[in-house]
Amino acid sequence: MTKEEKAGAAAFLDLAGDYLSGGFRRERGKYAFKDDREGDPREYAVSRGSGPGNNRFTGDEETAPDGRVENGDSLEAVAAEVSRCKRCGLCTTRTNTVPGEGVSRPLVMVIGEGPGADEDSSGRPFVGRAGQLLDRMLDSRGKIGLSRGNNCHIANIVKCRPPGNRNPQPDETAACVPFLVRQIKLLRPKIILAAGNTAAKTLLDSSQGITRLRGTWTRFQGTFLMDGSFDIPLIPTFHPSALLRDESLKAPVWEDLKLLREKLCELDGDYAARMAETPL
Ligand code: SF4
Repeated sequence: MTKEEKAGAAAFLDLAGDYLSGGFRRERGKYAFKDDREGDPREYAVSRGSGPGNNRFTGDEETAPDGRVENGDSLEAVAAEVSRCKRCGLCTTRTNTVPGEGVSRPLVMVIGEGPGADEDSSGRPFVGRAGQLLDRMLDSRGKIGLSRGNNCHIANIVKCRPPGNRNPQPDETAACVPFLVRQIKLLRPKIILAAGNTAAKTLLDSSQGITRLRGTWTRFQGTFLMDGSFDIPLIPTFHPSALLRDESLKAPVWEDLKLLREKLCELDGDYAARMAETPL
């Protein structure tokens, strides 16, 4: 079982105990649960109902109760389905699909909006000027110490390029998000960095813009997906393409990256030890 599943079961048992003992709510200490196993993320289950052909993703309806693999889902399977996908109109204008790339057990999953021209022609996420800036932001001369080659995974809300780099339409986002959900479940990142307006608003199911949302920790719990299986710290920041247009955004992004580093130091001892040798 995952720690979230154990916490849910404990809360239910506490509630049942209170009910059976007369209905009084008793004060209890905090439980400290751990996942039963830390293995290859591809050993964990995702929903068979999350692929193309389903208009509404409802989470765990076909997931094994213990969160283990039932259907052998994998990042490769997601990428293969994406490559064939015709669930929305973006399939008619794409050159390549762009499922995402990076390590399979990331400290941080960076989620952007969608592929641009360079990504559409290469099939890789964040490879144009904005992508190169993202790589520099994530490393920040070793002070943040993140990279897609070592400890990050990078993906987008939609996997095909919106023509002219327009924002994805709501129906396109709704059609594509199930792929992202499967990726998050497989990757189990310690932190999600939502890059830009579309990613932040979609993941947080918020009508507020990135200027209001950025720089504040929240928890991605998949509520907009009717999926309670997520509990991942999430911080939104500006999209690197916005920094290319407006250099004044570099200062708030640096503040956000420092918050990211601080949180990662709390969550990962190896990262904390590495950062202890690299003061800000
Ligand atoms: S954007 Fe997503 S849902 Fe639309 S065609 Fe591409 S992969 Fe399919």
